[in-house]
Amino acid sequence: MSVGVIVVAGGRGERMGTPVPKQLLEIGGKPVLRRSVEAFDAHPRVGTIVVVLPEDLVASGRAIVGATSRPCAFVAGGPRRQDSTANGFAALPAGADPVLVHDAARPFADEALITRVIDAAEAHGAAVPAVRARDTVKRVAADGFVGSTLPREEIWLAQTPQGFRRDVLARAIARGQLGVEATDEAALAEAAGQGVFVVEGGVENIKITTPGDLASARARHPGPLGRVGTGYDLHRLIDGRPLVLAGVVVATDRGPLGHSDGDVVCHAIADAMFGAAGAGDIGAHFPDTDPAWKDAAGLDLLERAAAIVGARGWSVTSLDVTVILERPKLAPHVGAVRERLAAALGLPADAVGVKGKTNEGVDAVGRGEAVAAHAVVVLAPRPVRP
Ligand code: MG
Repeated sequence: MSVGVIVVAGGRGERMGTPVPKQLLEIGGKPVLRRSVEAFDAHPRVGTIVVVLPEDLVASGRAIVGATSRPCAFVAGGPRRQDSTANGFAALPAGADPVLVHDAARPFADEALITRVIDAAEAHGAAVPAVRARDTVKRVAADGFVGSTLPREEIWLAQTPQGFRRDVLARAIARGQLGVEATDEAALAEAAGQGVFVVEGGVENIKITTPGDLASARARHPGPLGRVGTGYDLHRLIDGRPLVLAGVVVATDRGPLGHSDGDVVCHAIADAMFGAAGAGDIGAHFPDTDPAWKDAAGLDLLERAAAIVGARGWSVTSLDVTVILERPKLAPHVGAVRERLAAALGLPADAVGVKGKTNEGVDAVGRGEAVAAHAVVVLAPRPVRP
């Protein structure tokens, strides 16, 4: 049988105090919910995943979670946690057994922990991962005084995923629907008379509940750093063609020969973007054998390139380009070229560098036979927006 997983993200996380629901907060460039689902999507024994979300986020579920290799459905939660679990259970295929129930706010469940829960659920009917209490635990009375000190060796702190044979979870859910209130599914199973076996949890398997939890998780999982790419382009100059650099027309009698408009600035930057994102090169995306790109405007190709790397999770944060042209002088055009590039890529002007150079009369560029450009681009991980 393949394992079914219910990831419960029914609440908004009021204790976090952020305007963004906590499932959408990012750790290392990934939403908490995506990390939580990925752990199960990568587990060899998991067959199906159902994510339970607040009703207004169901339509955004796929955008938040991203592509999954297992079937993954998104359903609306209910007023109480147990109602959300019941909705998720109803959306699982009938053959899913055992079933794991996991808090979406626990993004660090690892494969070994998930395997321990599956094995114990199959062997014992119900299983929870838990860690031993490290602190002394006091029962505190309403008057603020310690009522008693609990024997610490008997205190374990329950985590998720909690695992159940399908029939056991069905009975636990039925208990919840009879009015039993519980903060986890194991408590409902206990109320239904089911023995619940405890397996070793993970100290890393924390629940992101407070801003402090989020800050420490972000410190331990900084995510991908930026990426850097370089690009180069050269076009031969011939009589009677316009010379266009980032959409700016430079007054001269010679312009680049090319299938497109020969905008070396945009072509070098696009290649740097593709290089940084590991996305091939400009020739692969806009082949000069394809009539679609005949006379294509450089700025248009640049915006398309930004969309392509954007779909791979990257955005341009800065770029620097050097144009090598013997004549005319580029200095009068540099400001306009920077403005066009900044506008096309949605960057502040100070994130765009443009320099003009000559080749001091040396070689083909120096003899005025060609125009060339070198570019460097920095990409940063792009935040996920539902
Ligand atoms: Mg080119």
